[in-house]
Amino acid sequence: MDQPITRRDFLNGIAIGATAAAASGPLLAASMPDPAARALPGASPLPPAAQDAFGYYPPLLTGLRGSHPGSFEDAHALRDSHTWPTATDTGQEYDLIIVGGGISGLAAAHFYRAQAKTESRILILDNHDDFGGHAKRNEFNLDGHLNILNGGTLEIDSPRPYGPIAANLLTTLGVDVPKLIKTTQNLEFYQSLGLQSGVFFDRETFGADKLSVGLERGPLKELLAQAPLSAAARAAIVQIQEGNIDYLPGLSSDEKKQRLSRMSYEAFLRDVVHVEPAVLNFYYARTMGEWGVGTDAVSALDCWGIGLPGFQGMNLAKGSIRRMGFTPAGYEDTGGSFRLHFPDGNATIARLLVRNLIPSAVPGSSAEDVVTARVNYAQLDRDAAPVRVRLNSIAIRARHIGDPKSADQVEVTYLRGGQAFTTRARGVVLAGYNMMIPYLCPELPAAQKDALHKLVKTPLVYTSVALRNRQAFDTLKVHRVYAPGSFHTYFHLNPHVHVGRYESPKSVNDPILVHMVRTPCKRGLPEHEQNRAGRAELLATSFETFERNIREQLGRTLAAGGFDPARDITAITVNRWPHGYAPEYNPLFDPDVPEAERPHVVGRARFGRIAIANSDSGGAAYTDTAIDQGHRAVVELLQG
Ligand SMILES: Cc1cc2nc3c(=O)[nH]c(=O)nc-3n(C[C@H](O)[C@H](O)[C@H](O)COP(=O)(O)OP(=O)(O)OC[C@H]3O[C@@H](n4cnc5c(N)ncnc54)[C@H](O)[C@@H]3O)c2cc1C
Repeated sequence: MDQPITRRDFLNGIAIGATAAAASGPLLAASMPDPAARALPGASPLPPAAQDAFGYYPPLLTGLRGSHPGSFEDAHALRDSHTWPTATDTGQEYDLIIVGGGISGLAAAHFYRAQAKTESRILILDNHDDFGGHAKRNEFNLDGHLNILNGGTLEIDSPRPYGPIAANLLTTLGVDVPKLIKTTQNLEFYQSLGLQSGVFFDRETFGADKLSVGLERGPLKELLAQAPLSAAARAAIVQIQEGNIDYLPGLSSDEKKQRLSRMSYEAFLRDVVHVEPAVLNFYYARTMGEWGVGTDAVSALDCWGIGLPGFQGMNLAKGSIRRMGFTPAGYEDTGGSFRLHFPDGNATIARLLVRNLIPSAVPGSSAEDVVTARVNYAQLDRDAAPVRVRLNSIAIRARHIGDPKSADQVEVTYLRGGQAFTTRARGVVLAGYNMMIPYLCPELPAAQKDALHKLVKTPLVYTSVALRNRQAFDTLKVHRVYAPGSFHTYFHLNPHVHVGRYESPKSVNDPILVHMVRTPCKRGLPEHEQNRAGRAELLATSFETFERNIREQLGRTLAAGGFDPARDITAITVNRWPHGYAPEYNPLFDPDVPEAERPHVVGRARFGRIAIANSDSGGAAYTDTAIDQGHRAVVELLQG
């Protein structure tokens, strides 16, 4: 419980029965400029584009972000066999069209330019109003100061050290990871003020509301003494955390690992450790940050791999069971990659990639100055530029002009502002969600489409909340809270960083941002069913419902610190990601087949002049995977 925070600790959970909200009316979402507003000279011959309008700056938008309204409806219509009026031919031709402006697609553009011998022309299409995909930036202007948070992809961090391709790309972009880790992050800032980690026990799950603070301060026993748990439950938690028991005596390390790989962590605690339900509820959300589902749907072996407790006395040898290719257990093997958090998370990587591709769009020259750089969106899609990023544009078709085996070009149809357009290229990289590809490319072989359909992503929500100040946190001596039964199962104060001209707020009276995490999973179902059900719930949840729950949760958790949601919350951005983490192999539910037969490998096969990227195609929800897959796709295309 007192482990350092990583994405893996960004936990989430079950919905509480919402009760009286302390809310006033819904917060107004900041709005975008009129798309038809002033277009800059030199704009493309296409109809006026929102991104060319004066003042277009999506990072400042609040309300429902991530998969924002307007970004996904056409994709669902395509799935439901909707057809659109005849497309207008833009007449534009490119060497490469990339569908998806996330890190994988942007990296693919970089690699293509680096590897193709000639100056190439590239068009990147993305359905969102901002580039970066999951690597999304949330900005707030609080009392005249810039405050930034990641709306998605949190940090450079992977279960494996970054390989040469991703590591070299970071170097090319000017990201000197060891130096930046040393000079920009102050992860002990809140601890230096005496603030600690806490657990919020909610009355719906545990019988009473109670915030227990001080995980780092003293014996666990003392902390739990204040918790609304039975004496037996408290003793069981202490034993799981600090005991040294071999729960599977008489088996070899490999035999134990085989068993642990076939039972969930929840089943391990319930059926092997024999704890009571309250203890299961206490641990339930511990896996949500890592996998977007609770301990009921994650193997005990994977939980051992990321350091969850209960295995200290079991003499499990280091190293995962290779054949199963456990990604997360890579932490056990290698210690994982370096870890670096920019204020906007890996949106900084996306911004650096865009600077590399279209220098005029992102002023500055270093990884430090990009943090406060204001992107000029009107520069992203200029006629004369070799690389163009076209936002608010969803591809609905990628079709070879002729036989895929011999065709010279691929035609891509996309929708923008309700109109359909076509454009052509010598090659296409599909770097969006892989499960959508069968709808874009219905002529793919049936086995490949089947495999792609299986790549169900994990939904999750990263919420950014602006507060008037930090006073309640200081009064309660807490900076992060694990809340296994609450609407958001984890929240914390914005990490303290000082990079370039950006400095996190220091004074207790300064406005500050809070990061909250929710995964809308459905306990008890197989993982992918949880994902599907969670996605449906997420898309049906209004901003007002999020707001009411956020106000209620922060109000209840921080009440003893004098927190008043009506007075203290000044803005909310809910980044919902119905298609969040890329699917990873889960030994509880997925067949144990050789790597070459896994759906992400079968699904990513090159098809004529179309190659497939995205972290989905690497079977791991990490930025290094997204980059490596962008590279692989480009190499495949350039191989002829
Ligand atoms: C909340 C969250 C937190 C995360 N935290 C981390 C972290 O800390 N560290 C880490 O390494 N990884 C993290 N990840 C994983 C993250 O997915 C990857 O690191 C990486 O950002 C994925 O990049 P990508 O380009 O593969 O996919 P995406 O970021 O999903 O980009 C794909 C883009 O293509 C667009 N697209 C899809 N279909 C179409 C279409 N038909 N037409 C046009 N555009 C389309 C999508 O909308 C999207 O913008 C996190 C993911 C989420 C959701």
